[in-house]
Amino acid sequence: MSPVYDRVALIGLGLIASSMAHAMRRWGLAGEIVGTARTAETRAIAREDGLCDRVTETAAEAVQGADLVVLCVPVGAMGAIAAEIGPHLAPGATVSDVGSVKRAVIDAVAPHLPDHVHFVPAHPLAGTEHSGPRAGFAELFKNRWCLIVPAEGSDIQAVARLRRLWEGMGANVDEMDADHHDLVLAVTSHTPHLIAYTMVGVADDLRRVTNSEVIKYSAAGFRDFTRIAASDPTMWRDVFLNNKDATLEILGRFTEELFALQRAIRTGDGDLLHAYFTRTRAIRRSIIEAGQDTSAPDFGRAATPAGETQPKQAARS
Ligand code: NAP
Repeated sequence: MSPVYDRVALIGLGLIASSMAHAMRRWGLAGEIVGTARTAETRAIAREDGLCDRVTETAAEAVQGADLVVLCVPVGAMGAIAAEIGPHLAPGATVSDVGSVKRAVIDAVAPHLPDHVHFVPAHPLAGTEHSGPRAGFAELFKNRWCLIVPAEGSDIQAVARLRRLWEGMGANVDEMDADHHDLVLAVTSHTPHLIAYTMVGVADDLRRVTNSEVIKYSAAGFRDFTRIAASDPTMWRDVFLNNKDATLEILGRFTEELFALQRAIRTGDGDLLHAYFTRTRAIRRSIIEAGQDTSAPDFGRAATPAGETQPKQAARS
């Protein structure tokens, strides 16, 4: 495949950026990959592993001459990065990002970009609970969705080119409006993460009462909550602070449903519980039919010889 971009600059070198670097290399999508990260430690790892063709000390250096710049830092850090790179962007370059929230990122980044660049925000719905430059792998985006959220007035050619890059990395691409994106993700990712964090917090409080039995006898339901609740604290803090309205809206609805189920349990309304669980079971089936998860028992975990479990590739955000 011929490169989609001559020079791609990755700002931030964590799970998503390192997966992009592996994928772009594997499928020959970028002529040159330049990367940078905030800490000397991450930059040193990237150099040692040969993650990029070049690793620069600063974001300003990394973006020089790049025809695609991708911001791969936590959502709350995007505005400051945009302010730093703005004066150094090449005319005609595309600036994109992979942030899990779109409206707040657009509002924070757009004012810092010069008129001579194209801003095309995006969000790959793929991730694991691992982070950092060594967490990435080339197949992360395979058969996962990447939502492109063109900012107002985004250039059609620039959007089409970015779409080719994501499709080249194996993703299915759709376009979506920023506010709608934030509401959909509040339902499918952000609120479920908050619930997982809460459940694991409750279990942690209880652990003191049960002498660690919560950990020892941890069953599938709780184990899956802990996997989600092990996700990067900075990333998720920023997601909630930057998708406040949609998350609060969904949490409100969640609380109402929870109270309804709580009352059904108290009043012994088995019919209500059965009907509810039948409806939710059908949703699981439709996710499997859509190819977004497997029907393998134990949530598709593959046991390794050491008895460990592989990180599960999940549609995340
Ligand atoms: P990650 O593995 O934790 O890596 C984050 C990177 O950002 C690191 O290179 C880090 O640099 C840098 N960084 C952190 N704070 C910074 C700051 N204040 N200023 C400048 N750089 C900073 O994160 P990730 O999972 O790749 O997530 C990156 C972006 O992708 C986030 O916006 C997230 O919302 C989005 N996303 C994540 C997932 C997921 O499941 N993980 C899925 C889709 C989209 P150092 O290593 O030097 O500290």
